Amino acid sequence: MTSIQHNLQQLRQRIRAAATQCGRDPEEVTLLAVSKTKPASAVREAIAAGQLAFGENYVQEGVEKIEALAAHPEVQWHFIGPLQSNKSRLVAEHFAWCHTVDRLKIAQRLSDQRPASLPPLNVLIQVNISDENSKSGIMLEALPELAQQVAALPRLRLRGLMAIPAPESDHSRQLAVCQQMADAFRQLKQHYPDVDTLSLGMSDDMEAAIEAGSTMVRIGTAIFGARDAARNPQQ
Ligand SMILES: *Cc1c(COP(=O)(O)O)cnc(C)c1O
Repeated sequence: MTSIQHNLQQLRQRIRAAATQCGRDPEEVTLLAVSKTKPASAVREAIAAGQLAFGENYVQEGVEKIEALAAHPEVQWHFIGPLQSNKSRLVAEHFAWCHTVDRLKIAQRLSDQRPASLPPLNVLIQVNISDENSKSGIMLEALPELAQQVAALPRLRLRGLMAIPAPESDHSRQLAVCQQMADAFRQLKQHYPDVDTLSLGMSDDMEAAIEAGSTMVRIGTAIFGARDAARNPQQ
């Protein structure tokens, strides 16, 4: 067994345990494998081990991998990095999902640029739930208005919310933040029938995120190993 295959099995077990422990169906939680900075060969190994959803942070790098793995149309590509306007076309043309919509301008561009030959782009609105140092994501107060605007765009499908909480080691404090996101997610769901995805939880807060109601956890290092910092392109 390769280590990627082994790591995936362990993670699926960890997700199953976390879900079962709080009385949730493990099938409700999707594992998004974050493959940023990792070569297409590593993604191919994960595909061989049954992994089908991958997250990329850097537009150009992601597009190169999507093209290198075009023989696997069953694979679903998620853009999860900060998105600049001048890169939106590549996301609209190549990805199935974008998790980091946080302003109308970028949503409008993604909708305008989504090719007619593809289904609508699935989008999540990124919420800045606890990280004062981050400029990514909107405040919760701004969510109803942006959600309404995004849901009205013809080539986007609003599927839910995403957040990257500030690092926090205490489980109960992690849980409190995750529950704020879960509350916002439940409210959003009541207004928009297509909303079904809460992208929340990374290696260190996965259990708290699942307990709160996350439907998608984003994990990189625990699957593919540590990233070489020198290979991390700056955007
Ligand atoms: C890199 C990244 C992850 C995965 O982080 P790891 O520490 O490698 O598990 C998850 N979400 C986002 C938005 C990321 O940028």
